[in-house]
This record gives sequence, structure tokens and C-alpha cells, in this order.
Amino acid sequence: MSRILVVEDERHLAEGLRFNLEADGYAVQVAETGEAAIEAVTSASPSFDAMVLDVMLPGKDGFTVISELRQAGQFLPTLMLTARGHPNDVLQGFAAGADDYLTKPFELSILIARIGGLLRRREWLEGRMRNISEKPGPKDVFTFGDKSLHFDALELRVRDQVFRLTLMEANVLSYLVQHEGKPVSRKALLEDVWGLHEDTDTRAIDNFIVRLRRYIEDDPTKPRHLLTVRGVGYRFFSSPAKVKE
Ligand code: CA
Repeated sequence: MSRILVVEDERHLAEGLRFNLEADGYAVQVAETGEAAIEAVTSASPSFDAMVLDVMLPGKDGFTVISELRQAGQFLPTLMLTARGHPNDVLQGFAAGADDYLTKPFELSILIARIGGLLRRREWLEGRMRNISEKPGPKDVFTFGDKSLHFDALELRVRDQVFRLTLMEANVLSYLVQHEGKPVSRKALLEDVWGLHEDTDTRAIDNFIVRLRRYIEDDPTKPRHLLTVRGVGYRFFSSPAKVKE
């Protein structure tokens, strides 16, 4: 049974989420403050499988919570609940390490579908991990130049540096690598990687790409691997020599 931590200080909403998630077969724990959330995640045994994290909380807010957890090496898949009319919240949430977001107010059925999506993406990565031990393949570790993407460990290694990737970062990079050399539209990334967010601001994708460039480009202002395809989206090249611009 998957275990979900719901971090929400509005008690009626927290209990509504608990009721509906439990009805869907999840085990649910509720934390009402940012501090309680960090305590719950770091002390949980077994660990949680996913977290629903509200932005507006007493004490530490949701951005601080996710950012502190990521810095402490806690990478549980996290869906943030942001306020409508605050598009910067979405960008700030992804920058802090969120994997997905939903704008309040939301339909419970959509929230439950998103949680299922987060868990499936995690299983997909774990499935890849199991496949490695059976038959090592080039897709589990992808090397380009002096960088290597370790999808099993959610890491990017650049020379002697190791960058931890969130689940969503690893999935976006994996998708781009699988489509190497071909233009990938923002819509395709939204639908295939994020899981169909008709309400998603495409700037969330662009912001994500800016973050990924900081990891994989020697000079993020002059990308050689992760190029913008004007009016379409993005294109990944493992070898900068292929770039003709
Ligand atoms: Ca709140």
C-alpha cells in the first residue's frame, strides 16, 4: 500500500484529502505545519511514497519545506498545491524541487490522478533500475562528453561533481535523450512526461529547461546540448559537434 504524506493546515481540506485518498487505497498521514512535515519525512519508516505539499503553511512554507528536504537528500515525489493567480508559485515550486503542482481550488479526482502519475513515474524508474541488475544497458547510464546521467541513481555526474536530480528532472532528461536530435514540443513534454496538464503554464517547462541547462551545459547562456527550437520546444544533442547554427 502506497503511503502518502498530506501537508495542509486547513483541517477540512486535509481531512477531505485523507478520506478520498484512503478510499482509493492509500495510507495517509497528515502534517499541519512545515516543521511537522520535515519531521514526518525524515523519521518515517518505511518512508513515504509521495507527498502532497501546500505552499501556504504556518511556520515554514511549502517552498522552504521542499527545498530543505531536497538539500537533505530526501527525494520523495512531491506534488505542490499552489494558489490560483500566482504563476510565480509554480516556477518557485519547481525551482525548489517539486515534481508536480496543482492549483487551488482543484478537483479531488484530478489530484488523485496526479498522485497516481507520480507513483507510476517512480515505478518506471525503479523498473529501469531492476533491469540494470539483470542486463546492463546503455539507457540506464547515458554518457555524453564529460557528463553522465545515471537514471537509476537520479544523478548527473560531471567530472568529479555529482548533482542529485528530482524525479521530474530525470524524467524530462530521459525523454529528451530518448528523442535525441529530434525536436520535442512543449506539448509533448507536458503530455508524455508531466501527464496531460491542460492548465499548465508552458513557462513551467521553460523554467525547467533553464534548470537542466545549469546542470548539463558548460555555459548555460550558450547551450550546446539542450537547444531551443523556436516556436516548437527543445532538442537534445549529446555531441555539440552536431549542432549547426
Ligand atoms: Ca494552507
